[in-house]
Amino acid sequence: MKQVVKKQQQFFYSGKTLDISFRKKQLQKLRNILTENEDEIYTALAEDFQKPLFESFATELLVLYQEIDHLLANIDHWAKTKKVKSSFLNFPSKSYIKPQPYGVVLVIAPWNYPVQLALNPAVGAIASGNTVILKPSENAPHTSELLAKLINNNFDSGFFHAVEGDAKTTQSLLSEPLDYIFFTGSTHVGKIIMKLAADQLTPLTLELGGKSPAIVDTSADLSLAAKRIAWGKFINAGQTCVSPDYVYVHASMHMQLCRLIQKEIRGFYGDDPSQSDDFARIINDKHFSRLTNLINPNKVFYGGNTDAESRYIEPTIMTQVSWDDPVMQEEIFGPILPILPFDYLDEIISTLQNKSKPLALYLFSTDKNNQKKVMRNLQFGGGCINDTVAHLGNTELPFGGIGNSGFGGYHGKTSFDTFTHSKSIMKKSNWLDIPLRYPPYKGNLKWLKKLTKFL
Ligand code: NAD
Repeated sequence: MKQVVKKQQQFFYSGKTLDISFRKKQLQKLRNILTENEDEIYTALAEDFQKPLFESFATELLVLYQEIDHLLANIDHWAKTKKVKSSFLNFPSKSYIKPQPYGVVLVIAPWNYPVQLALNPAVGAIASGNTVILKPSENAPHTSELLAKLINNNFDSGFFHAVEGDAKTTQSLLSEPLDYIFFTGSTHVGKIIMKLAADQLTPLTLELGGKSPAIVDTSADLSLAAKRIAWGKFINAGQTCVSPDYVYVHASMHMQLCRLIQKEIRGFYGDDPSQSDDFARIINDKHFSRLTNLINPNKVFYGGNTDAESRYIEPTIMTQVSWDDPVMQEEIFGPILPILPFDYLDEIISTLQNKSKPLALYLFSTDKNNQKKVMRNLQFGGGCINDTVAHLGNTELPFGGIGNSGFGGYHGKTSFDTFTHSKSIMKKSNWLDIPLRYPPYKGNLKWLKKLTKFL
């Protein structure tokens, strides 16, 4: 670990990454590596959790291609030194802000979108001129191995290097002098990372999880809401940080929505989703048994079938659920969807104001007043009105949490800003040196007060 970090520090101070054309070349190179190895990537994702081909392209590679292209098109502009107005008190001088990379960035990745969530922060860090050490997730071992191979065989390890391993590996990396830490994972581990970062006052971004609600009011287009909720919930078999964790629907439409979501599940995956090529598996036995324990058979409206050997959990709808049920006590992170009724929107707004702030929130409503009310009164990382998950497809939108779902953000310009320190410089002229600020101050205060009228 020591050697990797040392090598990256030396590379950083060689100044190579300060050259924008170097950054662009590396980003383009990574893009080409991904394109040339798409089949190997699909195979690794399928081996890890039977990730469907379409989802592998759309939610891992396409997102990365879009991000890289957006960065390539904009780095020149974002990396420019920006002049700002100089202050009267500093006359005569010029002031400017110089975007500067932090140095050595450690990216710690989760397993659920093991390519995209590892490389998306990495490309932002590269675009901003940092060197990158990537720690992929050990829970997606085939993808981790492939990422390490693709990165370490193609890039100078002083610039971009992958280190495979588990919590111990991460912790020993964290004991090294890093310049920035970008962590994506659970809230529980996020707290451990932040404590370790605090030892060296290393700045960090925490992209965490939580229970993201979908709310459906009486004005919603119910069929479309059902389709978009089912899609956002069951893509990646529910193992998505921004998937709708549960649904709150107006009591008058509760059963109707349950039936419509059931219809969508059948439409997407057929009567037996275990036979569908389009439905992923649970990542490992630990998560499989955690999830099966959350399914209370007495509360299953639809689904509920499981197969331990293939780690299959059928898309499952649960009703008659309250906040006391185990399924409502933790982030589900699997294909189980509790659907809860509500009577008054204000009532659930106040319920949610007293819960942890989620990473995402989705409102299905055509009522402008309700849209305004929910967007104004609830705190969450980001979300959609009348859709789920899709806000991640816009590189113009920053992505990140708030409170327990994390802090800081990335994607597009926000990535560039996250991995950049804005260095403020004032360049003073020597031709004039107003004596007002220097002691002895006798008589100066009067003049300073007069001058402040012109500020
Ligand atoms: P995790 O927190 O278990 O692991 C994430 C990373 O941290 C892995 O690389 C792992 O090796 C490392 N790690 C684990 N324990 C550690 C420890 N004690 N010390 C140091 N490092 C440690 O998360 P996960 O299970 O891989 O991912 C699922 C979680 O991540 C969910 O809560 C989900 O909501 C969240 N998530 C958030 C986002 C987001 O963008 N906000 C995206 C995906 C997943």
